[in-house]
Parts: sequence; structure tokens; C-alpha cells
Amino acid sequence: RRKWKRVMGVLRELEEGCETTVGRLKQVVDAMAVEMHAGLASEGGSKLKMLLTFVDNLPSGSEKGTYYALDLGGTNFRVLRVLLGGQGSSILAKDVERQPIPPHLMCGTSEDLFDFMASSVKEFVEKEGNDSESSVVKKKELGFTFSFPVRQTSVLSGILIKWTKGFAIEEMVEKEVAQYLQEALIRKGLDMRVAVLAYFSLLIYSEQVNDTVGTLALGHYHDEDTVAAVIIGTGSNACYVERTDAIIKCQGLLTTSGGMVVNMEWGNFWSSHLPRTSYDIDLDADSPNPYDMGFEKMISGMYLGDIVRRVILKMSQESDIFGPDSSRLSVPFILRTPLMAAMHEDDSPELTVVAGILREVLEISDVPLKVRKLVVKICDVVTRRAARLAAAGIVGILKKIGRDGSGGITSGRTRSDVKMRRTVVAIEGGLYTNYTMFREYLHEALTEILGEEIAQHVILKETEDGSGIGAAILAASYSSSN
Ligand code: ADP
Repeated sequence: RRKWKRVMGVLRELEEGCETTVGRLKQVVDAMAVEMHAGLASEGGSKLKMLLTFVDNLPSGSEKGTYYALDLGGTNFRVLRVLLGGQGSSILAKDVERQPIPPHLMCGTSEDLFDFMASSVKEFVEKEGNDSESSVVKKKELGFTFSFPVRQTSVLSGILIKWTKGFAIEEMVEKEVAQYLQEALIRKGLDMRVAVLAYFSLLIYSEQVNDTVGTLALGHYHDEDTVAAVIIGTGSNACYVERTDAIIKCQGLLTTSGGMVVNMEWGNFWSSHLPRTSYDIDLDADSPNPYDMGFEKMISGMYLGDIVRRVILKMSQESDIFGPDSSRLSVPFILRTPLMAAMHEDDSPELTVVAGILREVLEISDVPLKVRKLVVKICDVVTRRAARLAAAGIVGILKKIGRDGSGGITSGRTRSDVKMRRTVVAIEGGLYTNYTMFREYLHEALTEILGEEIAQHVILKETEDGSGIGAAILAASYSSSN
């Protein structure tokens, strides 16, 4: 009885630590908008990097023709082709080929890595050439999603800041990424060099880390009211369209009027208003990048399962409700987020899924039903907080661009006089798409923060494969405008 009381104490402390009242969420909203502003005011002005992408032109849905994309995201490499119909946002056909990157190429020479990619592209293009008339099309555009930190200098070029995700090809650091691809493509077409040059009128984007820009492009292709994109998968990031004159840190440099896509790198957002627990502090301290990516560590799929594991571990140390010590409970990241979601969403009366995962993954057997219910509760607290904070982040973006319903109120007019414009946010990522409870909590919080009236005008639209298809469509919109 005493031990159960102690466990309840741990749960109560967790709940309090994870509290996300609407009031608190609104503080996070404000903090996000303020940090965005600071990151746009000066380089290093905020933990939000607010990287310029130089993408000032988003697809409209009327692009036409065949476009290619190359997606180097981490362990995999993809080549894609889309056939756009020219009206009504139609995608008439798409083909994708995915290949794992052989590990030795990740730390070999730039030539080996890019030759490998160029060969794949060549094969892919030639395959099409045989079975359609499109080989007579002279010009081909290629969008390149390169998910590593890049300092963009224009939409066509960017310099690699550093490698991440296990890649280490030192010679490329501080060099133009697009150049390597272009040269490799030329090398691969040696015996048809001129043809290849004519064939590929290369239009290469080194899109910034992550895939948000592609997601935004894809969202905008389908719906021109799309103003921002959010990815919530293993990691999390967001980008949005900012007014060029609000990008203070680059005044004078930007020639385009109107808007530009800004990659927020929002995983690194931090605010003292974020509800933080001892589990978050420990998780951060044990991570390879302490004090970094604070927001991502509270909301993304990489971490949620591990927060739950840490809570269960703590409870098992405070009592014996989980039976004899399981050494598995001390293994970082052993409880993956999809398993956590499966426990959370277990709707069997006896919670057999929970029992199975506790047994198979954590080697905790034969716990009574009330303990299994406790596990579900822990998953709920952790996921609810994550989803609600993600919602607050989204509203923060809307606030920054005056789409949260609060802007534009001048004296003499009331809120209801202000017409709220339809506002679409493209969203993708495995956590959002596969974890129903997460998605529902996110939607619920969005409505709570904005109020029902305003929330009606804000639409979250799920996209699929922004990093691939979106990049190809972006290539299309550039080729038709330039
Ligand atoms: P990326 O690794 O590029 O972010 P995804 O967008 O597909 O790829 O996201 C994958 C992540 O989504 C996984 O790491 C996991 O955290 C989360 N995820 C995938 N499936 C589920 C699921 N069924 N329930 C909860 N989270 C999931």
C-alpha cells in the first residue's frame, strides 16, 4: 500500500511537470513568435536559426512536364520522377527508386559518393527513355534535397557547413554541394557528354536540413493557401513563408520583393515556459548533444518512448510494482516510440498489448492490470504534452505572420470584424501520421489555443513525401519561372 502511494506520487509529479494548460501554451506561442523575430533580426540572435532558403517562388499547381528529384537524406538515397499535368495540381505519374547508401561511401571520397548517385540517376533516366517518348524532351530539371546543414547562398547553391548522420567526407566541408553532383553527372555521361549537358539543364537546390521546404512546396502545389510546413517524425522541424522585409538580418542582400521560405530549425527552440521534468533533464544530459534541440527532445518520435522508459524506471526504483529489477529498463532507447504508441492505444479490456510489450521488450512479466493501466497513463501524459507543445509551435508561426486571428485589429474594430483568411499548414512525418492519439491531441490543442472561431480557418493538411515529390515540384516551379 505504501509503495503504491509512492508510485502515485511519481505519477502526480510527472503530470504536474508536464502540465500544458491553455495559459501555458499561449506563453509558448508568444515565446516562439518572439524567438522567430530574434532569429530574423540577427545571425545568432536566437536558438532558432531561421535559415534563409532563397526559395521565393512556390509551385501553384499549374506546372507541367517531367521533373526529377534526388533525395539524399541519411541512410537512403532516392531518385524520383514526377509527371505534372499542367493544371489542377495534378500529378499524373510518379516513380521512385530507393537505395541504401553503402556505408563505406559515407566516409570515402566525394567522387565515390557522387558517382554512385549519378549512376543511379543515369540508370533511372535511361529506363524511362526506353518506354516513352519523353527521351526526345531535351531539357530535364532536377531538384536536389540534401538533408545536411547547408549555408545557402542562392536557390541554386549552398555550402556544406558540416556532415551529420554518420557521413564524414572532409574534403566537401565548406564547398558547394551542387558542384559535386553536377560534375559527377557529367562524368557519368562521358561518352554522351554534350548530350548529357543538353539533357540536364541542371537546376539544383541544396535544400536545407530536413525536408520541410519540400513539404511546403508540395502543400502549396495542392493548395495555394499553404503558408507553413511542419514535420514531426523521428525529428521535428518547420518552415514558413516570411515577408522579405521582415528578414532584418539580410536587408539589402535580398533583391526579391514579397516572401521567402525560412527554415526555422525549430527543433532547437527553447523557452523557460516549456514544461520540463527531471526526465527531460536526464535525457538531455545523457544525449550526445546536451543543451541542443530542446524542443525536439520533448516532441519528436526519437525521444517520446525513452521518456516513458525513464518514468517506468523511476517507478520501479521506488517500488516493486514492476517486479524484480529488469536490466532492460536501463537500456536507453530500448522502448521505441511506435511500441509506446501501441501500448497507449491498446483497447483490449485486459491490456494484452501492454502486457506483451512489457514482457517482450522490457522483460517485465505478470504485472497486474492496474499497473498496465498506469503504463498507459504514462504514455498518455508524455504524448499529450508533446502534441500540445507542437500545436503551440504551429500557432507561434501563425502569430508571427498574423494568421492567428489576433493581428490587424485597429481601434474601433473588434475581433469579429477582422476577416480571418483561410490558412493551410502542410504537415507530415511518421509520428503525426501513424500515432492517432498524438494527432488528436494536437488538433484539440490547436482549437483550444486559437478558439473555435479562428481555428475553423486553420487547416492542417497531411502531405506525403514532401522531401521527394515536393523537391521535384519545386524544380518544376523554378524552371517555369526562370
Ligand atoms: P523520419 O525518420 O525521416 O522522420 P518518418 O517521418 O517516417 O521518418 O518518421 C518516422 C518516425 O515516426 C519514427 O522514428 C517513429 O518515432 C515515428 N513513428 C513511426 N510509426 C509510428 C507509430 N506507429 N506510432 C508512433 N510513432 C511512430
